[in-house]
Amino acid sequence: MNFSQIPGQKETIFRLIRSVREERVSHAQLFSGPEGCGSLALALAYARYVSCENRTDHDSCGVCKSCVKYEKMIHPDLHFVFPVIKNKKDSEPVSDSFIEEWREFVKRSPFFTLNNWLDSIEVGNAQGMIFATEASEIIKKLNLKTFESDFKIMIIWLPEKMHQATANKLLKMIEEPPEKTLFLLVSDEPDKVIPTILSRCQLIKIPGFSNNEIRNYLVSRFNAEENKAAEIAKVSNGNIIRAVELFENEDSSLQNLDNFKRLMRFAWKRDVISIIGWSEEMASTGREAQKSFILYSLRLLRENLMLSLGQLRNRLVFLAGDEVSFSDNFHPYINQNNIYHLTDEFNLAHSHVEANGNAKIIFLDLALKVTRLIR
Ligand SMILES: [Zn+2]
Repeated sequence: MNFSQIPGQKETIFRLIRSVREERVSHAQLFSGPEGCGSLALALAYARYVSCENRTDHDSCGVCKSCVKYEKMIHPDLHFVFPVIKNKKDSEPVSDSFIEEWREFVKRSPFFTLNNWLDSIEVGNAQGMIFATEASEIIKKLNLKTFESDFKIMIIWLPEKMHQATANKLLKMIEEPPEKTLFLLVSDEPDKVIPTILSRCQLIKIPGFSNNEIRNYLVSRFNAEENKAAEIAKVSNGNIIRAVELFENEDSSLQNLDNFKRLMRFAWKRDVISIIGWSEEMASTGREAQKSFILYSLRLLRENLMLSLGQLRNRLVFLAGDEVSFSDNFHPYINQNNIYHLTDEFNLAHSHVEANGNAKIIFLDLALKVTRLIR
């Protein structure tokens, strides 16, 4: 990953490059921004730029020995720490237990969520964690001499998922870093990183992508049709992961809208038989589809509230295609009296699905709550 492969974020890239050229590279930096802002991609491109033997004013060279190894993510001075899951033989594995899978996954696309990553290494309900066992691994790696570069670089993806003991060890390393060591922390939720670490890092705050950047990315990378790409860019709100998901799951979007419409219709009519049927249908889809439906519903509720509050459609309301005609009729039912309760119920259902609860009960319960709240 080099800077030119990142479809936007020019200002952040400019600042990062300048810090290297002016030799102001801070030894601990925290890359952070909203989900889907490309923070990991930026950290990867930055690490490569710092290590490049022949960098230009704009990017790493792409051909030197360092760049070639960075491309494959096998540079001996580049280390990764990221959440992993417990497996049968290792009770608490370290990141390197999954390094092959990690390299393959990141190479496919550097834009992904924790759940995307965990789902790629195990199907099921595993919780990702940077375990206590990682602490000694970090110390071991950073006490090595550099092999080929001026810097040893450790990229820590999602330090908020770090076991307390590991975080404490890391803190010591950041306070008194071994020579020529660079820590690049990449966080989605910096407020969950322990404050003592946070306060010792230089913060690289990253905004979401712009609509144009997302539209161009969908067109160039996925051959999306211009209008479709623009519509998706508008609803994805700067989140490139969401944009790609929307593009790839256009069918599931239609399915989600249909399920949402039916739920609301049955709820309004207090048609309990249909509600039970609907819940059973929802329960028979997979966990990912269920979560996708709930997140979709939360977005639709929010946008309908905006319509109810009289917001101009093109300014604040992010609706596409069939959602527009449905919402024209539906929005009067969503208002300030029920939106908080509705949102709470959908969020609750989401956390129950994540925790592998009984889906039939979760969706029946949700549907009955909606029945009460929608009148
Ligand atoms: Zn190079």
